[in-house]
Amino acid sequence: MRVIMLAPPGAGKGTQGERISARYQVPHISSGEILREETARQTPLGKQLSGYLDRGDLVPDDLVLSIIKDRVIAAAREDGGYVLDGFPRTLEQAEAAAEIGREAHTSAQAVVYLDAPADVLIGRLMGRGENRADDSEAVARHRLEVYTDHTQPLVDYYAARGILVKIDAASPVDVVSQEIFSALDRLKD
Ligand code: ADP
Repeated sequence: MRVIMLAPPGAGKGTQGERISARYQVPHISSGEILREETARQTPLGKQLSGYLDRGDLVPDDLVLSIIKDRVIAAAREDGGYVLDGFPRTLEQAEAAAEIGREAHTSAQAVVYLDAPADVLIGRLMGRGENRADDSEAVARHRLEVYTDHTQPLVDYYAARGILVKIDAASPVDVVSQEIFSALDRLKD
């Protein structure tokens, strides 16, 4: 099972990514988590990343790729697939991911697109109480804008490739999971 998750902040990408990972026994690769870990370790690379994360800006594509690429290839080859959560996030990253997929024969089979209205998203981000540094209202709103400008275009990109699965993420979390599972189960037949 090789899945990309595409979703605005607050749509439940992390939660659903974990559940997909558990059900289909493939690694959950969260670019945001990997970047936050790197920052927490205060490595030279981590220090370079922290400004972007704190502001809610995208980390430059080349940096993200250098951190994510080998993990995706290894997961596809050694662990039977992947759930990518937060990557790709720009058209450039999507093209790079497609190129990696062609080289390594590990292209995604489906892109799960979680969609929800902006007020629902902001409400969830404010209510989740994880105390993530980038969850203040101003930064969360900025992350939504960045999503609209840079990531939303991937919806059309993947729809044109015929692999987009659109799910209403305003539904309760278990309903969302069931809809995702039934779409992905159909892929296996
Ligand atoms: P959310 O979807 O709620 O914004 P993530 O954990 O996916 O949360 O991402 C948090 C932050 O990590 C982003 O605001 C951005 O700074 C950085 N980031 C994560 N993935 C990428 C990526 N693929 N490209 C650039 N920046 C990224």
